[in-house]
Amino acid sequence: MPPIDLPSPNFDARALPISMIVLHYTGMESAEAAIDRLRDPEAKVSAHYVVDEDGQVICMVDEGDRAWHAGASHWREIDDVNSASIGIEIVNPGHEWGYVPFPDAQIDAVIRLVAEIKDRYEITRGNIVGHSDIAPARKRDPGELFPWHRLARLRLALPRPTQSLMDPFWTEAGFCLALERFGYDVTDRMAAIMAFQRRFRPELIDGEIDAECRMILLALLLPKPRGDA
Ligand SMILES: [Zn+2]
Repeated sequence: MPPIDLPSPNFDARALPISMIVLHYTGMESAEAAIDRLRDPEAKVSAHYVVDEDGQVICMVDEGDRAWHAGASHWREIDDVNSASIGIEIVNPGHEWGYVPFPDAQIDAVIRLVAEIKDRYEITRGNIVGHSDIAPARKRDPGELFPWHRLARLRLALPRPTQSLMDPFWTEAGFCLALERFGYDVTDRMAAIMAFQRRFRPELIDGEIDAECRMILLALLLPKPRGDA
């Protein structure tokens, strides 16, 4: 299925080289409503790509330009995430309108797109993130139903660690320091913990730091700092 061009006027010039991919869900009632909004000059939002439920890819903003998908965000050393990233909106009503599993055809298309972009810009796996990872206090997308494991199997995202390590018994402050070292903005601690759980331990998102959370985070930070490869 060849991509369709539906240009959006909502972009400006990049101030940074491309080093990240940010995945979103559209969070609207229909694909049409989401596409209209992403092309509405009044809305001042956009993405480089939209992937519909059947796998149709829609190109909206040239990769060389800065699309407006991240909003106020932070990841690792980057605050202007829009300047540093390619933004992909995945059609799904989201938590507000009836969150549903992502169809296989849609995920297959996301995988192809992410693989191409990752290759083109030599983006590290640790910099392929969800909107909730870069804006934990504001965002939940693409959400706990997003199959990160499918991307991870193809080295397109960090896998959930499977090593059984010792519980480092960090205090809450220690855990949050480690979370910050990994990349999260921890200004809102509870939100950062929940974003981490949504991404790496989606079966229990309760904002409570437990032994499993500590061990997963420790494994992500060791033996390779930040798990990049
Ligand atoms: Zn988003």
